[in-house]
Amino acid sequence: MDGGVKEKIVLSIRDAQDRILARTASLPGERVPIDIALGRVLAEDLIAGRVLPPFDNSAMDGYAVRAADLDTAERAGLRVVGESRAGAGELPELEAGTAVRIFTGAPMPPGADTVVIQEVTRREGDTVVVERRPKPGANVRYAGEDVALDTLVLARGSVVDPGAIGLACALGRTSLTVAGRPRVAILATGDELREPDEPLGPGQIVSSNTYAVAAQIAEAGGTPVSLGIAADEKTIIRARLERGLRYDMVLTLGGVSVGDYDLVRAVLDDLGWESSFWKVDMKPGKPLSVGWLGGVPIIGLPGNPASSMVTFELFVRPALRRMLGHADVFRRQIAVPLAADYRKDDQRAHVVRCRLRRANGTVVLEPLVKQGSGMLTSMVGVDALAIIDTPPGVLAAGTVLDALVLREDHGAAGLDGMPPGR
Ligand code: AMP
Ligand code: MG
Repeated sequence: MDGGVKEKIVLSIRDAQDRILARTASLPGERVPIDIALGRVLAEDLIAGRVLPPFDNSAMDGYAVRAADLDTAERAGLRVVGESRAGAGELPELEAGTAVRIFTGAPMPPGADTVVIQEVTRREGDTVVVERRPKPGANVRYAGEDVALDTLVLARGSVVDPGAIGLACALGRTSLTVAGRPRVAILATGDELREPDEPLGPGQIVSSNTYAVAAQIAEAGGTPVSLGIAADEKTIIRARLERGLRYDMVLTLGGVSVGDYDLVRAVLDDLGWESSFWKVDMKPGKPLSVGWLGGVPIIGLPGNPASSMVTFELFVRPALRRMLGHADVFRRQIAVPLAADYRKDDQRAHVVRCRLRRANGTVVLEPLVKQGSGMLTSMVGVDALAIIDTPPGVLAAGTVLDALVLREDHGAAGLDGMPPGR
């Protein structure tokens, strides 16, 4: 149902990704409070407006002295004339032959240039004797030694991590300008779909994709917004789609295949969208449908649960990461040998849900058993997606395949040192 015009183009996975990314840019920057900036991408260069540390201070607990007095300090000791503690505003002046008791982080008193750690001193009343002399200038943290004025400390495009937050705060920042976070509308379509807490009548199923895809959006760093479930009726689909246009992207679920009730593309055609492509040469996920309406990307994900999640992973996640400002939008790709034979029965590129396992000191790829596009269990515990674009036939165990690593944190232990894929 595509207005009578048969689309001939079936794109490769790579071409489909390229077409989407070619039209996807980083969202405009927004200022966010620094305590919620973690993981966002800086849309400004952070230039130091003050120095760090802000003043000369002691790195240790001990005595602030003048290097010129170290001989005297060893022979006869120095008279202790006061103390400097962390946070101290007023400081005793250090004259020749004197020392000041000092603590870590406390400002260096004027005149002092060296700190003797207390462990190598002996206190005799008002006098401190140095038992092992430090090098002149020891144990002092100098103003600006960490960050000089006007240094570029965090560059636009870098990901805000805990260290960046600490540094920005130390420089007095309470907010950061980061690339916007895409708000992504999700519209499920299908007469058979119900919410998880609704009773199911004959022929009805839960719209599990709504929630699985929302979770994928959140995991990618976007904000999911559900537009609910639309029945397979053009007017309803149209009204919901129009509501979706206020977001940064609209994802539709289902209704993009060739069945009589696959109406999403027809409605988009009625709305005058600019269709980019329909169908990717892959399994699962062939009927993926992509275009733009009023500048908003509309991505029609196929309805089968594994198809929608796999196509999200390959096509939507990179686009969301681009919008979020990331330079690196793709998953890590590794070359990894198959653990067992794999039979490929057609021409399409297979995207195979796999586990990564260690065997005899190397990592191997173990395709999960239930690869059916309607099957949900093989979306649980997936460590990697193998992409197999060879002609039909049997790939023997040991054949090295390209795989996208979905989970760096578990299952995939010891991936470091794996060769990158193509
Ligand atoms: P469709 O592309 O609309 O023909 O849907 C393909 C298959 O996916 C059908 O079996 C649908 O029932 C199922 N499906 C469609 N949308 C969803 C959804 N939101 N959640 C779970 N399954 C769905
Ligand atoms: Mg449907």
